[in-house]
Amino acid sequence: MKERTLAIIKPDGVSRNLVGEVIRRIEGEGIRISAAKMIRMDKDQAKGFYQVHEGKPFFESVTDFMSSGPCLVMVLEGDDVIGRYRKLIGATDYKRADEGTIRRDFATDIEKNIVHGSDSVENAKFEIKYFFSELEIF
Ligand code: ATP
Ligand code: MG
Repeated sequence: MKERTLAIIKPDGVSRNLVGEVIRRIEGEGIRISAAKMIRMDKDQAKGFYQVHEGKPFFESVTDFMSSGPCLVMVLEGDDVIGRYRKLIGATDYKRADEGTIRRDFATDIEKNIVHGSDSVENAKFEIKYFFSELEIF
């Protein structure tokens, strides 16, 4: 089924010059990038983005991290792209991520894990709308 997902190259991925490498892997999978831009969230915007995690022990820290520098946000499109992109990025904890995944290859920490990917159709809709207007998606 044709889906959209929100992908983010997090501040650690941008500052470590991994933008090209992540995009190469996405496009290499046959996934189409239908929107992309660089943004920097402030603390409140990061809290709004990760509002599903409000109250969890890592909430303060992850929202500090996500607002610590610019991110590249993208909309990806394709058949079953939510699951396919999650597979490409690997498990949240890079130590448990499969070999050859982006997080396994580049993450340094459970929090600083290079990339974000929506985990459901419903969350993808919310997250895409958080950053993009329909006019910016091609
Ligand atoms: P993302 O939503 O960023 O794609 P995910 O869906 O794999 O990641 P979530 O459970 O949604 O994982 O957590 C959101 C983010 O919060 C993680 O990617 C990571 O940066 C951070 N995080 C998650 N769990 C922890 C933890 N136990 N300790 C520190 N940071 C964490
Ligand atoms: Mg998540």
